[in-house]
Amino acid sequence: MAKIRILPDALASQVAAGEVVERPAALVRELVENSLDAGARHIEVHAQRGGIAMIRIVDDGTGMDREDAMLSLERHATSKIRTKEDLGAIHTFGFRGEALPSIASVSRFRLATREKTALVGTEIEVNGGKLMAVRDHGGAPGTVIEARSLFFNVPARRKFLRTENTEFAHVEQQLRLHAIANPQVAFTLTHNGELVLHLPATRDMLERIRGLVGDELASRLLKVEEITLHGITVSGYVGGPGMSRSNRQMQTTYLNGRPIESASISYGLREGYHTALMKGQHPVTFLFIQMDPQAFDVNVHPAKKEVRFHDGNSVREAISRCVSRTLEHAAKLPTGHAPARSAALQLAATSEPAAVSARQEQFVLPVAASSAPLRDLDPPRPLPSAPAVSVSPPPVALEKREAVSLPAAPRPAAVPEQEADAPAPAAPNTPPEFRIIGVLQKLYVLMEGKEGLVMMDQHAAHERVNFEKFRRALETGGVPCQRLLLPVTLQTTPRDADLLRQNLAALNRLGIEIEPFGPNIFKVETLPAFLKTDDPAAWLDQVIEELSSLSTKSSSLRLSEDAIATTACRASVKSNDVLSIPELQGLLKDLFACEMPYCCPHGRPTLVQISTSELERKFGRRAPG
Ligand code: ADP
Ligand code: MG
Repeated sequence: MAKIRILPDALASQVAAGEVVERPAALVRELVENSLDAGARHIEVHAQRGGIAMIRIVDDGTGMDREDAMLSLERHATSKIRTKEDLGAIHTFGFRGEALPSIASVSRFRLATREKTALVGTEIEVNGGKLMAVRDHGGAPGTVIEARSLFFNVPARRKFLRTENTEFAHVEQQLRLHAIANPQVAFTLTHNGELVLHLPATRDMLERIRGLVGDELASRLLKVEEITLHGITVSGYVGGPGMSRSNRQMQTTYLNGRPIESASISYGLREGYHTALMKGQHPVTFLFIQMDPQAFDVNVHPAKKEVRFHDGNSVREAISRCVSRTLEHAAKLPTGHAPARSAALQLAATSEPAAVSARQEQFVLPVAASSAPLRDLDPPRPLPSAPAVSVSPPPVALEKREAVSLPAAPRPAAVPEQEADAPAPAAPNTPPEFRIIGVLQKLYVLMEGKEGLVMMDQHAAHERVNFEKFRRALETGGVPCQRLLLPVTLQTTPRDADLLRQNLAALNRLGIEIEPFGPNIFKVETLPAFLKTDDPAAWLDQVIEELSSLSTKSSSLRLSEDAIATTACRASVKSNDVLSIPELQGLLKDLFACEMPYCCPHGRPTLVQISTSELERKFGRRAPG
């Protein structure tokens, strides 16, 4: 007897539901996408007990007539695509016609919908996939979809649900993702009857972001310089150097409005941030990619979270360019004379985000605005014993520094106009007026600046200086090297030997003259000139280690940048090195001649400030607030 059987429809839906709706947040994703596809301007999401007991979505979109409402619950019933060609270029969020039947098969489901011009609407009830009732509905135009008792009929799946709090956190995160991409739509979220999010419609993306992440973080974002490369347009906001998170929750990226994750994008971000991001940290981004829907496939992931790009490298390159340009530009521009917070308000007041001038934009500082940029970072924390201390952009940022122009630095397309708008440059590389007070723990240089106490991490600062010196040398023909009196021979593992052989040229450019000297043995003749080390072999070991940790997935550019960062780090003054005042002054001057003075090549801050007003608050001389 034949063993293969076609599954009954209800069972097939439950199987599909396992993939499409794995948890309440997935319902929110599917239903909000439907509402957006239906042109809704207001979307309400109500959840009870994490969304497990109930999820209800109310929208004011087009609604459906009775025939469509009935059809929408059939599997593979969709109004969004018709032909195979449509599938190759999807313009809507939905296209599979799976969500509604899937949800209806694993919950107590109710759909009430009415078209704007219809006298009466339709209400349909389905229980675990079984049609219970169809009746007239007298509600407002738009659609209400309610799913109660999720997985009541699929206990195996219910077991995979987490606590109500966890599930609700996912629901909220999901809604945030949609809300960011659709500022023109008003969103409301309630949990157990309590209002959690209320986001009025706005034309300003930054205002929407502020509504979601708060003033403090929003004011520190950089507006990316919109670019189009290989037909890929990138826009949005990103965190400046040193602003990062230990997980990817704040790394939001969108493709034609759809929140997605993609390795190409992550690599692009890594590359774009390169030394402005600490190892193991993730950037804060609200990035929007627009491209021809024919150039990627969304139909690869049940939750449509991932996409397959036909040309992932172009995407990576576009992202990386856009981010590095934005960071470079932000670090180079004079920061004007307004504090970051009021600048952010100016940004918000602009109804056309595109019309924000470079002058306003540049007020958003690369490192930090009012409070605690270092809350984003782990080491080093400012004054751990006094967590309430907040740090502000160093007053040094008020100085106009002339950009150190690197041959490789791409110039933003819109620069001439913006520069015409910018204030006249001050003397090049003028270091800010700091009075050095002393050195704390042989590491933190305490200084008095115009706006308060400024602290410099001497090691991080020197690393940045060395890093840029190395990189410039590299770009202009190689790092000067010192010849060793006695060549060093390195005995390596076969794997490291391979690695070294592949990178001989890159190492040479770094001032390390190294050549094979036998099986797995290498001879080193020179080292970078400014490296101070008593033990070249140990130093080389570290470089090899660094190389091997990077070799996978890194582009060669990144590889040499990281190698430079390592070299710079090893060659830098350490926390215990005692520097004289003139040496410290020299370091400060060199730091401010850097392209990106506010963070070391690993993305840690070089400078933090406690403003005078912050000190006054601490000492009770001024009311908080
Ligand atoms: P898909 O979105 O992939 O088409 P769904 O199962 O999510 O599949 O929805 C099926 C159809 O029901 C949609 O194509 C759309 O025509 C209709 N629909 C679903 N939700 C709404 C809504 N909120 N407003 C109007 N029409 C809707
Ligand atoms: Mg859908």
